[in-house]
This record gives sequence, structure tokens and C-alpha cells, in this order.
Amino acid sequence: MQEAQIIFNLPEFMQQWVLRERPEHQVEERHFELVQAPLPVPGDGQIVVQVLYLGLAPVMLRYMRNETSFERPLALGDVMHGRGVGRVVQSNHPDYQIGDVIQAKMGWREYALIDGNDPYFLVYKMNHTDLPLSHGISSLAMSGFTALIGMRDIGKVKSGDRVLVSGAAGGVGSQCAFIAKALGAGKVIGLAGGPQKCNYLISKMGYDIALDYKQEGMLEELDRQFPDGIDVFFDNVGGKLLDDVLARIRRKARVVICGRISEYLLDPAQYHAYRNIYRVGLQDAKMEAFFVYDYTAHFREYETTLAQWIREGRLQPTEHILRGIEKMPRALMNLYEGVNVGVMMVQVAN
Ligand code: NAP
Repeated sequence: MQEAQIIFNLPEFMQQWVLRERPEHQVEERHFELVQAPLPVPGDGQIVVQVLYLGLAPVMLRYMRNETSFERPLALGDVMHGRGVGRVVQSNHPDYQIGDVIQAKMGWREYALIDGNDPYFLVYKMNHTDLPLSHGISSLAMSGFTALIGMRDIGKVKSGDRVLVSGAAGGVGSQCAFIAKALGAGKVIGLAGGPQKCNYLISKMGYDIALDYKQEGMLEELDRQFPDGIDVFFDNVGGKLLDDVLARIRRKARVVICGRISEYLLDPAQYHAYRNIYRVGLQDAKMEAFFVYDYTAHFREYETTLAQWIREGRLQPTEHILRGIEKMPRALMNLYEGVNVGVMMVQVAN
């Protein structure tokens, strides 16, 4: 304990973001308040970590509205939920030493108190600290694992497959083409909004072709690019786009339902009514949704596989990093505005 204070020179107080109001449809700065709190003191089995990076994810609006079953309810005045990468600065747990770098549910704060025995925190040590620690928010964490599960275990991408990805310039989508190619895919097409994101799909994210879904004629161009249809559709968007792609799936296609970001802010009465679902039966295809937290038993393997691909240059993480804990609400708002290219995160400390 004493050693930690010498090495890290811990402050007495820290900053943290608490929830002040619940959003209806849009996240705004006024929903949060940045407050000071004393540094936590670890009890038996607990550790304190200095938070280095915090990730942002579309699901956070639902945390703020208490709409998920897999996250603890948030009361007004509670510290906002979020996963991060941090360095252990105090430890009362035999498995965690001062200086270890871990990933866990940390919350929006500079120092987090974590119970090393409570599965809720989903703590694990980062094994690949030779790579940038920010990868513990991107490729070696939920967004990378989600892309891998979706492409490999659900989409079962194989040699020569024609693969299409929606939401391709976002955190998950930015890794999908690399992973599909590593699994042997043929042509991989990404869908994103606007020319700048489309340029990034080709120049930074490994896509062969980028199509702007906001441009007229996108579906006709898709038909030209994939005249025989699509083998694997990795869908982050849902709604009408999914319906349009269902009209274009090949026999034995796999449709991977990763997310449906186009409908998260709508009331159920406004959800798209699908016309082309019948194509799943007609084409003897499969359509399957999945949830990354159901695969925790495999996280170590995912981390090892993805770290190996990064070292070999087959996977190049794209990270959109803002700096300073005061940027957290802005970073979340940027995520819903579609500003981010790649995985959105905030660097909280060096
Ligand atoms: P992200 O970084 O916010 O990227 C999502 C992208 O979707 C945005 O950048 C935006 O880019 C695009 N988009 C937003 N609204 C759209 C619309 N109406 N139509 C078409 N595209 C739209 O999010 P992410 O972390 O990559 O997550 C992607 C999806 O995966 C989300 O739906 C998320 O909930 C889901 N997810 C699922 C799991 C799981 O376990 N299944 C795990 C993590 C994430 P443009 O500017 O190109 O529109």
C-alpha cells in the first residue's frame, strides 16, 4: 500500500460524472454533472484503479433511462456507467498487483473502486500491454470481440464470401472488414454516411468498396458490385436498410444482427415493418442476433486472436480519442451525432 503512494502520489480528491436528469430521445450536457469526490479506500478483496481510458457506446442512452437488464439501475446522482482501462494503484486482492493494467466496469471517474470478487465488474487483466493500452477499449475489448463473434462465430465467414457491413465506419464496423479478410472473405463492402467516412472505409479500415447509404442509387450500385447477391450481412443498423439487404441475400446466406442503431431512438410504433423476411426461408438462410456479454467465457481467446492479428498487421484499430474527463458528455453526444470514425473513447489520464 505504501509503495503505491510513493509510485503514484495519489490525490485526495477526484472528479466524476453523475447523472442529473434522464434523457428522452437525445443526450445533452445538462443530463450530467461533474462533481468532486474523495478517493475511494479499498476494503477486503477490493482494488482502486486510476482510469486511463473510458469507452463510449450507443447502449449508454439506455443505461441513462434504465432500459437494460444487464446493467445495474442508475439513480439520479449515481456515477454514470462505463467500461474502461485502468492501472491498479491500491490492492487488497491477491490476484491484482499495483501497476497491473485491467479492463473493467469503472464508471465515468478518475479513480474507480472495484471488487475483484464480484462478477458484475467483469474485470480482467490486459495480457498484451506491448500494444497501445487504448486497444483495451477498442480491438481488445467489447467492440473488437463483437466484430469477431459476429463475423466468425455467427456469420461463419469462409473463403471467397461476399460480405456486406452496415454502420461500417463505427466502432464495431471499423474492424469488420479486417476480420472478414483474415477469415478468407472475398469482396467486403462497407456502408457509411458521407464521402469522408467512405474514404476512411477504404484508406483505413480494409474495405474493398465503400457505399454512401445517404446517396440515391446506393442499392443499384450494391447490385452492380454484388450481382449474385450477398453471403454474409453484418448489420449494425436494422430497419429499412436491413429489409433492402434481405432482398439481396444468396442461398445459405448468414445475416448477423449485431445492432439496429436506426431504431434505438424511435418508439416501437415507429419500427420498420419488414417485407423481405420471407427471403430467409426462400434462400435457406440464417438470421441470428447475439449479445457480446453472453460470450464472456471466450474473451481470453478473442483477445489473443485479435492481438495476434494486430501484431501481424491484419487488423488495424481505428480509434477516435478525445482527451480529458470533462469531455465525457461531449464524446457521448458525438457518438449519437455519428461524428466518430472508429471506436469512440476518452483518454482520462496518461
Ligand atoms: P458507433 O461507433 O456509434 O457506430 C455506429 C454507426 O452507425 C455510426 O457511426 C453511424 O455512422 C451509423 N448510423 C447511425 N445511425 C444510423 C442510421 N439511422 N442509419 C444508418 N447508419 C446509422 O457504434 P458501435 O459501437 O460500432 O455499435 C454499432 C452497433 O452495434 C450498435 O447498434 C450497437 O448497439 C451494436 N452493438 C452490439 C453488440 C452486441 O453484443 N450485439 C455489442 C456492441 C455494439 P454513419 O455516419 O455512417 O451513419
